[in-house]
Amino acid sequence: LLSARGLHKRFDQLEVLKGIDLDVRSGSVAVLIGPSGSGKTTVLRSLNGLEIPDAGTVRIGDVEVDFATAPTKKQLVGLRAQSSMVFQAHNLFPHLSVLQNVIEGPLTVQRRPREEVRAEGLALLDRVGLASKAEQHPYQLSGGQQQRVGIARALALKPQLMLFDEPTSALDPELVGEVLSVMKDLAAEGWTMVVVTHEIRFAQSVADQVLFLDGGVIVESGPPEAVLTDPQQPRTRTFLHRIL
Ligand code: ATP
Repeated sequence: LLSARGLHKRFDQLEVLKGIDLDVRSGSVAVLIGPSGSGKTTVLRSLNGLEIPDAGTVRIGDVEVDFATAPTKKQLVGLRAQSSMVFQAHNLFPHLSVLQNVIEGPLTVQRRPREEVRAEGLALLDRVGLASKAEQHPYQLSGGQQQRVGIARALALKPQLMLFDEPTSALDPELVGEVLSVMKDLAAEGWTMVVVTHEIRFAQSVADQVLFLDGGVIVESGPPEAVLTDPQQPRTRTFLHRIL
């Protein structure tokens, strides 16, 4: 479903991505791990055109953008429509109810009919275990519940691909499990997902492939049994020792 080739990105003097290739099959889960500053977030943001790589191509489904030349607005809009991103902090609209947050994108961006979108929004809230919170406001929810609303909001856009950028790293430890559990369910339902996370146990049980990123390159990739349990590269071993 997703294929990225030769992604390069530089911020002034700093070369953050030095040629990233990534292939994710439909219905599979790729987990990106790596030290802070290694470029994980920049990879994710490049996949949906929130960041414009200096070179490389991204193809999602039948939409392909070659960043060798500056993409047109139309190309970027087309690419963005293929995926939804769940961020580290949920950035829900504080003045809207939980349900309004979930249906805002389908209503205003996709201009779909309110009744249909509302029914889908309620079903999505039910799916993340928050049907009873639909009319509350984000401040009335715990961090884990807010993040689950963030996931429902991303799903509401019906993307082909879900992108998660450290979705649990801002949460208190006791709230991490409920968010990972929703993500596990999505993986089991066949969603195609790219997940940046430090949750190695999640990667072990859910990922089809794990990619270890360091210094803007993919140092090692493969099934979790290989990369996490029997890493071949010294840099991967050092990183895993540090975080486990
Ligand atoms: P973390 O786990 O800390 O989020 P990361 O692996 O996701 O790290 P990135 O956020 O992709 O890393 O950042 C890679 C490098 O690029 C960092 O050194 C960061 O400071 C730098 N960087 C990211 N975005 C920008 C920007 N907009 N302008 C300048 N430098 C940036």
